[in-house]
Amino acid sequence: MHHAMEQRCLYDYNLTELTELLRSWGEPAFRARQLYRQLYVNLAQNVAQMTDLPAALRARLAEIPLSTLHLERVQIGDEGLTRKALFRLPDGAVVETVLMVYPDRSTVCVSTQAGCGMGCVFCATGRLGLLRNLSSGEIVAQAIWASQELRAMGAAGPSGRVTNLVFMGMGEPFANYDRWWQAVERLHDPQGFNLGARSMTVSTVGLVKGIERLATEKLPINLAISLHAPDDALRSELMPVNRRYPIAELMAATRAYIEQTRRRVSFEYVLLQGKNDHPHQAIALARLLRRAAPRGPLLFHVNLIPWNPVPGTPLGRSEWERVTAFQQILTDYGIPCTVRVERGVEIAAACGQLAGQQALTVEPN
Ligand code: SAH
Ligand code: SF4
Repeated sequence: MHHAMEQRCLYDYNLTELTELLRSWGEPAFRARQLYRQLYVNLAQNVAQMTDLPAALRARLAEIPLSTLHLERVQIGDEGLTRKALFRLPDGAVVETVLMVYPDRSTVCVSTQAGCGMGCVFCATGRLGLLRNLSSGEIVAQAIWASQELRAMGAAGPSGRVTNLVFMGMGEPFANYDRWWQAVERLHDPQGFNLGARSMTVSTVGLVKGIERLATEKLPINLAISLHAPDDALRSELMPVNRRYPIAELMAATRAYIEQTRRRVSFEYVLLQGKNDHPHQAIALARLLRRAAPRGPLLFHVNLIPWNPVPGTPLGRSEWERVTAFQQILTDYGIPCTVRVERGVEIAAACGQLAGQQALTVEPN
């Protein structure tokens, strides 16, 4: 797991560290700022393109990999508006990144780990197990790829740049908190990539320690929590993490988070036919959320996600009528609720479908 991380790439350094590195080579601080701009503003694809740097410095920099993500292929769906990149890491693991272009925005869905150790039964990534944590540079480089891709597409207007970033790719961000947070700070840096904190959303399986820690961070990024069930028995069946952090603890942490930050939290709820999509479960969910909400305006939002089929699971996708009925019940209980519009299903780029090249074998059970 630590092997590949020893090979630092240029995207693994923040501006202070780059300054330090270049200073150790006898370079003045402004050279580091030039390099940093090349990386995060100009989106240079290699050191040779950084023509404002002296040739000798470029030669030295070229010894450090720019990025340790090797782009293996890009799959295109939704008539070019959804693009999934498959990257190979130096140790052979693969990660995926998805870019979704809309008329008024462009969203990139970024991975934080290769594979995932959380074992949610409905998720393709979960079936891989955890291969390893990504370095901050490997997380950052995915957003850079998306920007470069948009630039190459020649997309105009707001959709011509990355306007939104969601940490909803492979992996559990809070299980790789330090490196993930370094990536957040670097992507946010107004002198660099300059992505607003409010434009970033982290999704967690419900690691309470991570929620508590996020509440203390200065950057107000958005928090989404994967809930997927209104009771512990079902949630533990779908998400093994629930045995460690059952619903009551998760809700207490969410409540404390809202009281500390006054920021809205959204809950993700993947709808599985006959499993968690019954009207009585919608009512139970509504009651649970009403009970858990702190005083004041309801800072909860529910995002219903139609399940994207994962081969080899005995699960099924809820019929549309059940999705809308579920949504109606939550709405009737006064809980704001939307249904996520899917992208990239045909190229297996949708939520929970990221599994690299790994063939998902069908094991009937
Ligand atoms: N590990 C984090 C973030 C990555 S998954 C988490 O679990 O929250 C992003 C979202 O996709 C989560 O809400 C997850 O539950 C959901 N998801 C996983 N598999 C899915 C599938 N097959 N179809 C739809 N959503 C899925
Ligand atoms: Fe991991 Fe999230 Fe998939 Fe669960 S849903 S296995 S936490 S990536």
